Amino acid sequence: MKLNYTSTEEVPQIVEDLRKSFFSNLTKPLSYRKNQLKQLYNLFDDNEQELCDALQKDLRRPRSEAVLGEISIIKQEIYDSIKNLDTWAKPEFVKVGIAHKLNRCQIRKEPVGNVLIIGPWNFPILLLLLPFVGAISAGCTAILKPSEIAENCATVITELFPKYLDQNSYRIVNGDAKVATTLLENRFDHIFYTGSGKIGKIVMETAAKHLTPITLELGGKSPAIVANDADIPACIAPDYVICEKSVQEAFVKEVPRIVEELYGPDPQNSPDSSRIISQRHFDRLTDLLDKTEGKVVYGGDKDKNDLFFPATVVSDVPKYDSLMQEELFGPILPIVVVENLDEALEFIRSKDIPLVIYPFSNNEKTIENSRLNLLDNTRSGGVLINDCFMHFTVSTLPFGGQGHSGIGKYRGKRTFDTFSHERSVMTSPYILERLLEVRYPPYTEKKFNF
Ligand code: NAD
Repeated sequence: MKLNYTSTEEVPQIVEDLRKSFFSNLTKPLSYRKNQLKQLYNLFDDNEQELCDALQKDLRRPRSEAVLGEISIIKQEIYDSIKNLDTWAKPEFVKVGIAHKLNRCQIRKEPVGNVLIIGPWNFPILLLLLPFVGAISAGCTAILKPSEIAENCATVITELFPKYLDQNSYRIVNGDAKVATTLLENRFDHIFYTGSGKIGKIVMETAAKHLTPITLELGGKSPAIVANDADIPACIAPDYVICEKSVQEAFVKEVPRIVEELYGPDPQNSPDSSRIISQRHFDRLTDLLDKTEGKVVYGGDKDKNDLFFPATVVSDVPKYDSLMQEELFGPILPIVVVENLDEALEFIRSKDIPLVIYPFSNNEKTIENSRLNLLDNTRSGGVLINDCFMHFTVSTLPFGGQGHSGIGKYRGKRTFDTFSHERSVMTSPYILERLLEVRYPPYTEKKFNF
């Protein structure tokens, strides 16, 4: 499959068309927004199989993961947005002091304008279209730039999009860094970017030229802190594990059993095993693994022709190992051994602020109620205790990073807020002009003789 890129010459015209459309007020009526949200829902409802097929082709993502981990989350977000839109968009009349009792003071929730959403390849449908739900809800026009690496997903979304959504208001632009750079040369009213910190910095720098507000949903090394009282089989997915020596031993012992339980005796031939997205990423992971000074205690037996990289556990990884320098974004799990919890917290604090910290412990004191507790002694975008990924599925919890892991939060009403401007509007009745003459010169004695 070869994804058709949008020509860079076409990009400025698309941006200009959407800008004009925004100023025509087409996207502002709530009825229009709800209708487009319903259309987006229908896109997912009518084409679940095509979308799952695309995820299967790009990532060999199993159908149940595609439905539960991407499609159903977006459908729920659309449903919630339609249900709550009237309340979210309602002007808020604020309390005023005695001096302003005759004024009418309100905050209008207005769409920021024409926005750009740039998506990554790991959840190529979810992370492109979830912010888009908020952009439609807020009444913005929007350009969506899918990841060119997940090309089957980008292609199917590009084909379906005009069949369901108003092309006067929302457009897809496809391409690589060259097309993305051309897009960013244009002025937008908000840029919502999910991807690596490296490109995030470019987005921020370019946005600064137009003083465009940004949301950056970035990555980084998210640790699982596994305490010595944790339930070991519950820990899957984070970037690395940090624990005491005895926990490492128990963890390493559990891994083969858990992998076999999930993927059978031959994980490469399991229908539930995903693949690495590209040769480039496969080589990147291989290179990182080759350089490690840790011990490969499980997995590591990969197959480049099939882009199959097994779940690989590396124990006794030095704190400044190759595996600890950058985000892994693949099925390698390094374990860093520490003497105690204090040392683990110190190490996490010495690194960039992670997107998520995953503490695993059965002891409330380890998590919250002690001097050395994990919550008060670390910083991160979010915390998920004794689980992985699930906090993203709760639309009332703000999702986002802090520092190097991102700027801004979203999900549910917060996505609506991201793409809305709170516009303060104060109305003065003409009668006040007479009462407030004191404001104008000449500032005579008489005027101030109350
Ligand atoms: P990436 O930064 O390489 O690409 C993301 C998007 O940026 C793609 O659409 C790409 O075409 C575009 N892009 C490339 N060059 C660009 C440029 N010069 N200007 C503007 N856009 C450009 O990221 P990726 O490899 O697709 O995704 C992996 C990264 O995303 C990881 O770091 C991961 O942690 C992060 N991520 C974060 C979250 C989150 O919610 N915080 C979720 C998923 C992934």
